[in-house]
Amino acid sequence: MTNALIIVDVQNDFCEGGALAVDGGTAVAGRIAELLGRGAEAAGFDHVVATQDWHIDPGAHFSANPDFVRSWPVHCVAGTHGSAWHPALAPVAGAVEAWVRKGRYEDAYSGFEGRALTPSASEAAEPGPSDPVPGEPLAAWLGSRGVSQVTVVGLATDFCVKATALDAVGLGLDVTVRPSLVAAVHPDATEEVFAQLRAAGVSISR
Ligand SMILES: [Zn+2]
Repeated sequence: MTNALIIVDVQNDFCEGGALAVDGGTAVAGRIAELLGRGAEAAGFDHVVATQDWHIDPGAHFSANPDFVRSWPVHCVAGTHGSAWHPALAPVAGAVEAWVRKGRYEDAYSGFEGRALTPSASEAAEPGPSDPVPGEPLAAWLGSRGVSQVTVVGLATDFCVKATALDAVGLGLDVTVRPSLVAAVHPDATEEVFAQLRAAGVSISR
């Protein structure tokens, strides 16, 4: 069985000090870096992909008076420091085979709404104006590599991790979310989100 690790949106704006910081985001970045510290294979993964919220003009997704449910402060503007991968992950950027950017002109919570790019890891990890032409959708990228099992980690539990995990189940993949490697916008909702995911067929386990 071929598997993949999907690292969701571990970007500066979603970590402490960022425009839309999630409590515990930086710690999650550090733990994912530890997981991949000896390489993807040693961590038990055949493939590793990373998603990035990547906004140019996402309409009502941005608001001056955000409700933190459907509208948000300006965040993850394409090519800015806020949209860059968290620096704690820089040592393991080489393990990432594909960067999946989503949300250029709309909101996009699931990584499956994005398309896989193949820029160099450093290009994706550093802020800059470069935004290569989008490649294939994430589902096609995984499918062409025979991936049938995915582990979803990252930020945030109650939005993009949840949406990505549910879409993966919908595609017929075997899906695991690791609770130690996610953090929520609304931590009080975490158990409810895990219950929803379990009900959909997602394993919540280490
Ligand atoms: Zn966004």
